[in-house]
Amino acid sequence: MAKYKINTTCVQGGYTPGNGEPRQIPIVQSTTFKYNTSEDMGKLFDLEASGYFYTRLQNPTNDFVAAKICELEGGTAAMLTSSGQAANFFSIFNIASCGDHVVASSSIYGGTFNLFAVTMKKMGIDFTFVAPDCTEEELNAAFRPNTKAVFGETIANPALTVLDIEQWANAAHAHGVPFIIDNTFATPVNCRPIEWGADIVTHSTTKYMDGHGAAVGGCIVDSGKFDWMAHADKFPGLCTPDESYHGITYATKFGNAGAFITKATAQLMRDFGSIQSPQNAFILNLGLESLHVRMARHCENGQAVAEFLAKHPKIEYVNYCGLPGDKYHKVAEKYLPNGSCGVVSFGLKGGRKAAEVFMKNLKLAAIETHVADARSCCLHPANATHRQMTDEQLVACGIYPNLVRFSCGLEDKEDLISDISQALDKVE
Ligand SMILES: *Cc1c(COP(=O)(O)O)cnc(C)c1O
Repeated sequence: MAKYKINTTCVQGGYTPGNGEPRQIPIVQSTTFKYNTSEDMGKLFDLEASGYFYTRLQNPTNDFVAAKICELEGGTAAMLTSSGQAANFFSIFNIASCGDHVVASSSIYGGTFNLFAVTMKKMGIDFTFVAPDCTEEELNAAFRPNTKAVFGETIANPALTVLDIEQWANAAHAHGVPFIIDNTFATPVNCRPIEWGADIVTHSTTKYMDGHGAAVGGCIVDSGKFDWMAHADKFPGLCTPDESYHGITYATKFGNAGAFITKATAQLMRDFGSIQSPQNAFILNLGLESLHVRMARHCENGQAVAEFLAKHPKIEYVNYCGLPGDKYHKVAEKYLPNGSCGVVSFGLKGGRKAAEVFMKNLKLAAIETHVADARSCCLHPANATHRQMTDEQLVACGIYPNLVRFSCGLEDKEDLISDISQALDKVE
């Protein structure tokens, strides 16, 4: 598809039906695909021809939707995965293995932190975590000779820190490795990290992209800009022959534009099978069709709620980069000029008890671990995701006992504010 504005790409990107073909993306509910000769199929297995043979690796429905997200992010190749966790795992494991090292922002989604610090550590991959607003010296000091990638989040979940994407991309490139960024909270509607130097973009499509709390999924987009062969010694998996594919070298056969995603499909999807179901890909695409419209409303509601809370006498602090006083306001003005997201976090003056009373009295916003849904939802981390921690441990990791994470949905902002207001009135 020709280059259109982001609003048009949300609606029509990725799939252009031919004469008499379905207007909506067809759901190809088939595990397998039929061929006339074994030679035809052999070419697919050798990666000599492109096509489908088994849905554990690839499916046309998924590829239409991945192509749309690829266009939205301005990449050259993309793949859907079964979840955001699978996307982040593949993004690292595609280029790092036992004995390697990765530099990551310390302000990332808890599930990703666990994946990196516990599970991938068991696989022999070491991570050094650096504060997202560290100095250039601190960031550079984290690199080792065996570092293979740098990882961060545009807007971190749940800390709501905003990353200086250019600074992190430059540091990665100075050390000859790609910068991988999880763009889940901003979405390509509000920030396209590839334009700021990121090499690989990941998503939990479960959040705003689906946006209706209906389908778990993930996506990886390659910018096609990282020159693997220029750093061939660091990336043998891409730059030396793959014996499981008759000696193909991904970086030479598919070039910088296609090597990363082809390898992740041919090796990781083949071996781990973390494919998104075509049904879920179809549901995801319904979400993408209105992503640009919904993001504007999520941001409008987030801004209104944050401004209301910032003036409320029972509120101790508010984290939202759209507020002029926020620590990340300046960096957000650069990377998120049209808005950030609908998630606001704040602390109540009465501590943990006040947060509990407040949550109990909300009528519109439901208590959920989810965020980025059309329906507003909220979470008290000290009582949910972080409940195994003592108050002292919570303070140490910046998740204060009085912190509430509030994900503004698509309801009327006046109704959301009235609901929050009446629930705050119940707090002593
Ligand atoms: C939710 C989330 C993930 C994990 O995604 P799942 O789809 O739940 O596996 C990863 N990164 C971020 C920023 C998230 O918010």
